[in-house]
Amino acid sequence: MAILAVGSVAFDTVRTPFGRADDILGGAATYFSLAAAQFTDVSIVAVVGQDFGERERKVFADRRIDLTGLQQSKGKTFRWGGEYSYELNDRTTLFTELNVFESFQPKVPEAHRRPDILFLGNIHPRLQLEVLRQVEKPRLIAADTMNYWIEGTPKELRAVLEGVDVLLVNDAEARELSGEFNLVRAAEKIKAMGPKMLVVKRGEYGVLLFNEHHRFAAPAYPLETVFDPTGAGDTFAGGFLGYLAQQSSVDNDALRQAIIFGSTLGSFCVEDFGTRRLETLTREEIVDRYRAFKQLTHFEDL
Ligand code: AMP
Repeated sequence: MAILAVGSVAFDTVRTPFGRADDILGGAATYFSLAAAQFTDVSIVAVVGQDFGERERKVFADRRIDLTGLQQSKGKTFRWGGEYSYELNDRTTLFTELNVFESFQPKVPEAHRRPDILFLGNIHPRLQLEVLRQVEKPRLIAADTMNYWIEGTPKELRAVLEGVDVLLVNDAEARELSGEFNLVRAAEKIKAMGPKMLVVKRGEYGVLLFNEHHRFAAPAYPLETVFDPTGAGDTFAGGFLGYLAQQSSVDNDALRQAIIFGSTLGSFCVEDFGTRRLETLTREEIVDRYRAFKQLTHFEDL
């Protein structure tokens, strides 16, 4: 199996200035896998409740996404609600109901314990560690986290960071984790905690990559319609790692291309509510937008 991903599978309620949607399929592992499955096989380790039905399963089953590691427990699926103002980079969490996540014990199925790439999605660092301990030396280990864990479980988060190659966070999280406002300095401090690479997601301002001695910056694709930014970060991670899974080596050229594929997938995600746009996305549309990105950022040497 090429990528193993652990993270939330959720029902989201989202309000934006352009409309609202209630109890739609969401969660970090959902967005991540829909994006990564455009490039490679993905297996998910997560938990859902009894309210998770065939309609939701079909979204995954129609694609290269294996659900053997998706546990179904007594109770309700994780629920999250968020609201955006016209300042779409800034969102307010309306509620977080952990439900079946409260007693979740991740168990990686035997057949998926040797993934090529491991993605530790944004969940309790203790659960990220449990998954990390169950797998055998992946080629690349990437992790995401959020302010909730940076503030609430710093010790466990530090233990996760010691074991990962790439950390993907947004700019506010990079600042909070490092205690540095300046992102270049923040990157140095975070790299000293363990990750060799840091990817800073900056919403509509694009992405920054800090590798050992290498930096790369990409803008976000200028879109005419932005409906719902939910999941853009996880979708970015799915495109980024999905592309890397196809490459024999993770060199700086491949990393730059992966950043653009991540940005491409993220740009589609925000064009409609929830996972709707990702569900209809074709390979041709992805390649067209990748090329549009190249055009957008190309300039001649002196
Ligand atoms: P993103 O917009 O990429 O940050 O991801 C949004 C997704 O993260 C939503 O679909 C939520 O269901 C999920 N989410 C929000 N808060 C949490 C949390 N505390 N733990 C796990 N998943 C969460």
